[in-house]
Amino acid sequence: MQRSCAQCKAGFEITEDDLSFYDNLSPVFGGKKYKIPPATRCADCRQQRRLAWRNERYMYKRKCDFTGQDIISMYPPDSPFKVYEQGVWWSDKWDAREYGRAFDFNRPFFDQFRELQLQVPRLSLVNKQSENAEFTNHSAKNKNCYLSAVTFECEDVYYSDWVIDHCKDIFDCSYLHEGSELCYETYYAWGSYRAFFCDFIKRCQDVWFCFDCTNCKNCFQCCNLRSKEYCIENKQYSREEYTRKMAEVLPFSAEELKKQREEYIRRKREVAIHPATYHVQTESSTGDLLFSTKNCTECFDTITAEDCRHCIDVIDVRDSMDTYHVGWSELMYECHAITNGYNCIVCHFTYDNRNIAYCDCTQNSQNLFGCAGLNKNEYCILNKQYTKGEYEDLVPQIIEHMQKSTEWGEFFPIAFSPFGYNQSRAMEYYPLTKAQASQQGIPWSDYDPPFPAAKTIIPAAEIPSSIADTTDDILHCALQCEISGKPFRIIKQELDFYRKTGVPLPQRHPDQRYADRMAQRPPRKLWHRQCAKCKQPIATSYSPDRLEIVYCDSCYLKEVY
Ligand SMILES: [Zn+2]
Ligand SMILES: [Zn+2]
Repeated sequence: MQRSCAQCKAGFEITEDDLSFYDNLSPVFGGKKYKIPPATRCADCRQQRRLAWRNERYMYKRKCDFTGQDIISMYPPDSPFKVYEQGVWWSDKWDAREYGRAFDFNRPFFDQFRELQLQVPRLSLVNKQSENAEFTNHSAKNKNCYLSAVTFECEDVYYSDWVIDHCKDIFDCSYLHEGSELCYETYYAWGSYRAFFCDFIKRCQDVWFCFDCTNCKNCFQCCNLRSKEYCIENKQYSREEYTRKMAEVLPFSAEELKKQREEYIRRKREVAIHPATYHVQTESSTGDLLFSTKNCTECFDTITAEDCRHCIDVIDVRDSMDTYHVGWSELMYECHAITNGYNCIVCHFTYDNRNIAYCDCTQNSQNLFGCAGLNKNEYCILNKQYTKGEYEDLVPQIIEHMQKSTEWGEFFPIAFSPFGYNQSRAMEYYPLTKAQASQQGIPWSDYDPPFPAAKTIIPAAEIPSSIADTTDDILHCALQCEISGKPFRIIKQELDFYRKTGVPLPQRHPDQRYADRMAQRPPRKLWHRQCAKCKQPIATSYSPDRLEIVYCDSCYLKEVY
């Protein structure tokens, strides 16, 4: 079925598989199936709407609206929401059912939901079972972490995101796995140790500026190598020659580092061979960065997924469509930030829920419709408690009401996002100006957190060029980002790390460093172009206008392995 997107007007297709997914997930009440209608927006516009609901990296100091204490939260102090610190939010010191209200059949569902959402206190952030990790969000079981998100079971992780599985001593990295350690400015690494400015590396050690290397040690500016040691620009050196050459550059001066970073980007563009897509132990699937994935369509960054469509950043998910950051879940539609979910339709930020629809920040619950902030509850609608019989009678009536108002099947409107668009991940993939956002009624945050007092502000050009010339005095200064002009601080752990590794102080604010890293990683979109070698058609995250050398799977494997 061909449709035209209600938002961007682009044509898109609803496939037979999509239709059977909707049918399978459509709820049944009293023997009658309440069909989820086919999407009215294209996959990109649907994704933008979900991403606008995720603030992952921005954390603020503010007051808890229950205790009045200073807390860290993903909601800035000028947010219109009530925010409770984690300990209070999860406790029985309050009951979100106190905000319950009857459904009004004379008004649209979303308007009523919005009123509820604005009243029910929200969870400040999520960093369960963590120690000394106040500035982490969407994270758990960490120790000594700072300004990081989506980090699990790790230690000493700073300015990073998606770092999982016992990684340690990580600064400015994304997508690190399998106990990687001592890594800097690296993304997509597995089981690697002392990796600096690398991407797509597996089980590597002491590597600098390496791309797509596996089992390599002591390599510098190399790409597509397997089980090599002492290589520079893919050329073999003796151990002595390599050590001598490294001693010439270490510790790096800021100028030398800049030169090497530019050279790395050039080599990735002109020398490296890029596989069309990264599929590892994956069958019958389309998308990119798929690991242990089966029968999935247009999915990106999945670790164990089956029968999913348009799912991004998921771990262990099956039979789901249109999800973002969902883990250990099944039967999800239009969901974001869900852990341990089963049968959830249009939900945001929930843990351990079953059979819920249109819920925001509900936890450990089942059989809820249009609820916000409930914990350990059942049979509630707009946070009002019903009996099982009343619930099963009322929900289908509300769905019929929402079918008439064309709200049924749609994700929460972007306008109701609890975050400014500029704080959300949508800004990274679908950037808007403040004026464009305001034209579309999309919230925007103008909150600028006060910068802590610093003895001196050092402009980027005057930041010490070598870590050897950097004294502890720097900890009392603010540095000024060479791109954004935004001041930033260096913390002790960071200074120790730079001293240990020979990397000079950064000249860019952590936000700019993150943006630089994001600009290098492949976008989450597939284009059609030709294999640079055999000219066969390929689907790849590299758009046809990009200069990288992109090979089909079989040419890549022939060349690289
Ligand atoms: Zn669209
Ligand atoms: Zn080929």
